Amino acid sequence: MNKILVTGGSGFIGSHLCEKLLEKENQVICLDNLYSSSLTNIEHLLQNPNFQFIEHDISNPIMLEVNQIYNLACPASPVHYQRDPVQTTKTILMGAINMLDLARKMDAKILQASTSEVYGDPMISPQPEAYWGNVNPVGVRSCYDEGKRCAETLFFDYLRQYKSKIKVARIFNTYGPKMAVDDGRVVSNFITQALAHHPITIYGSGLQTRSFCFIDDLVTGLITLMQIDENLTTPINLGNPTEITISDLASMVISLTNSRSKLTNCPLPEDDPRQRKPDVSLAKKFLEWNPQIDIHTGLQRTITYFQSLFSEPNWESKGIQAQASELILKDKKKIFLKEQKRIFH
Ligand code: UDP
Repeated sequence: MNKILVTGGSGFIGSHLCEKLLEKENQVICLDNLYSSSLTNIEHLLQNPNFQFIEHDISNPIMLEVNQIYNLACPASPVHYQRDPVQTTKTILMGAINMLDLARKMDAKILQASTSEVYGDPMISPQPEAYWGNVNPVGVRSCYDEGKRCAETLFFDYLRQYKSKIKVARIFNTYGPKMAVDDGRVVSNFITQALAHHPITIYGSGLQTRSFCFIDDLVTGLITLMQIDENLTTPINLGNPTEITISDLASMVISLTNSRSKLTNCPLPEDDPRQRKPDVSLAKKFLEWNPQIDIHTGLQRTITYFQSLFSEPNWESKGIQAQASELILKDKKKIFLKEQKRIFH
């Protein structure tokens, strides 16, 4: 049985990944400092004997006996990662070093969740992995973009210098159930606005494009990438190549929700990329992976999730209710501390 560490495991992508890994009969340790994620995402997993949650910030070292590490921990939405940009860079870089060192010590495989942000505002489209990108090194997005670029450097240096068993996934825009309501990202914003019949906030002209990948496809891609033995010497793009403008996305959400919302134009955030579309040839070749869920189907599932979330009484305080899980966590913490003692002595 694999013992797998998922950092950022209670976030949007991390919690789906933990769920899928548990379904596949693995033991999963979920590490998260809950900065931009919620315990509600993993509450249903806490009773599973193969699941353990540890509240921890990966910019500090930690010792755990594992044979696979998925390093996802980092606030990923522009609103969240720009709130404390210095901490964002620390989380990415110190976190990468701590996790790479842990993987080295345990001889574990390690997968880095990188991002399409490494391409910045791309001059070519679609973006293949061989494209070096067009990134502002001193802008408001740089803490995330340059942090993730440097994390990739570290991963490939650990490969060259220490023969570490690394994989790097460049994740493009991903959406689906369990996105945080206050995430600030376009899909969650548009759906929550449309369901409330509030104005849909289009930043800039709305002609900028993104390519949206449904969460289930992405998780399959991550697990397949971790599993392949091939010693890849390239990052792998994971995303859905169907590109749409933000205005078209707004129209689609309005129509799928039968909303009375109108569009409202807002200023374009600084350094907002004009286009983004993954070239997924390498994922097809090495992983035989191709996203299966089209944007209509994926949006419909995401809308259904938000509809049922909003129909729950007191859904706004769900995060607080999650603290009810504290008792379970305290027990798990005791087991964890015992285990740490055993490893260190
Ligand atoms: N966006 C928008 N309205 C919103 C939120 C985002 O028009 O309420 C735009 C944003 O400016 C960007 C795109 O949607 O061009 C995707 O933004 P998001 O924050 O989801 O992800 P990004 O790809 O920028 O990291």
